[in-house]
Amino acid sequence: VANRLARVRAALKAHGVDGALWFGLEALPNVHVRYISGFRGSSAVIAVDADAQYLLTDFRYAEQAAAECPGWALVVVRGSMVQAAVDLVRERGWQRVGLEAERVTWRVYDTLAQELPGCTWVPLDGIVDDLRAVKDDEEIAALRRAAELADAALARTLPTIRGRSERAIARALEQAILEAGADAVAFPTIVASGPRGSLPHARPSDRVVAPGDLVTIDFGAVVDGYHSDETVTVAVGWAESWQRDLFELVRSAQAAGLRAVRSGATAKDVDAACRAIIEAAGRGREFGHGAGHGVGLEIHERPLLTSRPDAPPWILEPKTVITVEPGVYLPGRGGVRLEDTVVVTDHGYERLTTWPKEWTVL
Ligand code: ZN
Ligand code: ZN
Repeated sequence: VANRLARVRAALKAHGVDGALWFGLEALPNVHVRYISGFRGSSAVIAVDADAQYLLTDFRYAEQAAAECPGWALVVVRGSMVQAAVDLVRERGWQRVGLEAERVTWRVYDTLAQELPGCTWVPLDGIVDDLRAVKDDEEIAALRRAAELADAALARTLPTIRGRSERAIARALEQAILEAGADAVAFPTIVASGPRGSLPHARPSDRVVAPGDLVTIDFGAVVDGYHSDETVTVAVGWAESWQRDLFELVRSAQAAGLRAVRSGATAKDVDAACRAIIEAAGRGREFGHGAGHGVGLEIHERPLLTSRPDAPPWILEPKTVITVEPGVYLPGRGGVRLEDTVVVTDHGYERLTTWPKEWTVL
């Protein structure tokens, strides 16, 4: 965390600001408060300038903050947190103040602007998001553990899915993830069976899984704040040849994407590798989402693996953690998606999610 603070300071200097504020309030939780300061409560403001770092919180978290944030000046706020931030900016004499535009509510910004009319507000566009893309060893250990617990839960749940509803399968898998020792599930589990497999982000329904279905399950665990993300697609009972072909197409696309993962490649390269296989099969229009995303304290973070022309040219560095998850979705018929979470290494990648992405008939 000390190293993170130094990197944040360097970014503030590069943006020419006197200091910056991060708001992590109940109305808008902000993982950057934890990332920079180590504080894990749900209500805090942090303020950083070249010489000092402050953590503002309320009475509920005073003791916790003192323990979690050694080296930070702790301010226990009795009234409004935003007003306390205003007072601190005045006290420090900041003129140019940085805010991360995407992580401040309109109300907070409005109050700051009215109370501090002399200040210039400088948007710090994603400076912390960019730092977070490359993980440290502790973060990777948490991600690996999350993936292990999720895979153990899948191993327990998968043999039981036949004859159960999507909703019951999702509930059983989430229960197994928690019983395996995860702090939480990473996101509401997706279970999409039969024709519902064409909905990339289907909410589990009461549809009962039956022989002849492909079933797509997208799931993850949280350990120490870090999320795993994995998708499997399995056949139940028997399958028609188009289902097997669709699976093999997505499997080769995912394998091609993974082969493109290495230090120095761009996020776009990985997307393009997946997409080329699916386009060559004439299914490009049925793969309508990006091929993956960064994952860590949030389920979707930088870098984004996308073909969008407006996406920045993110370069993969060692210890960047990304998912590779091509899918093909045929409306009215079904779909296949395969997803792994991997760590970028010098010469390739290391898989964190380890469930084999092989054709499986249950
Ligand atoms: Zn997923
Ligand atoms: Zn994902």
